Amino acid sequence: MKKLLFLLFMFCLVCGTLICRALTNKNVLFVNADKTALKGTLNNKVEKETEEDIFYAKFFRKKPQCKIFGKQLLKQAIKDPYFFYIVDKKNLLPADYNPQDLIGEGKYAVRKQTKEAFDKMAEAAKQDGISLGILSGFRPYSRQEYLFNRSVQTRGQAHADKYVARPGASQHQLGLAADINSVEDSFVNTKEYAWLKENACKYGFSLSFPKGQEEKTGYAFEPWHYRYITSEGCKMQKEHFNDSQVDFLEAINACLPQN
Ligand SMILES: [Zn+2]
Repeated sequence: MKKLLFLLFMFCLVCGTLICRALTNKNVLFVNADKTALKGTLNNKVEKETEEDIFYAKFFRKKPQCKIFGKQLLKQAIKDPYFFYIVDKKNLLPADYNPQDLIGEGKYAVRKQTKEAFDKMAEAAKQDGISLGILSGFRPYSRQEYLFNRSVQTRGQAHADKYVARPGASQHQLGLAADINSVEDSFVNTKEYAWLKENACKYGFSLSFPKGQEEKTGYAFEPWHYRYITSEGCKMQKEHFNDSQVDFLEAINACLPQN
């Protein structure tokens, strides 16, 4: 009997040890895998930050005036040179420029980032009982050509020059501009206009042709036409550029490495 109990005890001891070892091995494997993964992530991050830091340290040494824009806005400007592109009567877009990330149907389409910001803004407006919609977003070069020629034929060259952009000179070709709700002068008297005036900048939308800046922009006041320049960009425009989109765009473009 004693022998039997002893054998049973030994059997349990061996089984217990084996189970314990299996569990420990498994844990060791997991812990090692986690450590390796963590080490990899840390290394990547360190390398990436160092490269970027070196780039911007050199960049800001060369152009200290660009420091105010910060890395985030400059990164956007560098990776997508059309994002802050100046489009006006003197700076025309190439006829074949079409943004590649348009979202939406036909004339309601805008670029992805613009669409996401617009939807967020429209949702916030809705909470305040305000309804916002894009009446006109992306417009290809050919459509602008048609609109300009039609205006010249029906209302004369002087009127067309003041109110309609020439082909290549419209922010709508960028896919970053939106005519919101209306294209009538009476829009200025609506609660939607008042809401936008107060809130659009928070969502990154800047009024492109404001009242009083006609000489600077080259266009008559358009209370409905907004350009998406990101909320950081809009804040910067207000705080450092006297709320002038033209001045903000000129300054950030001067900070592009090739300029
Ligand atoms: Zn417009």
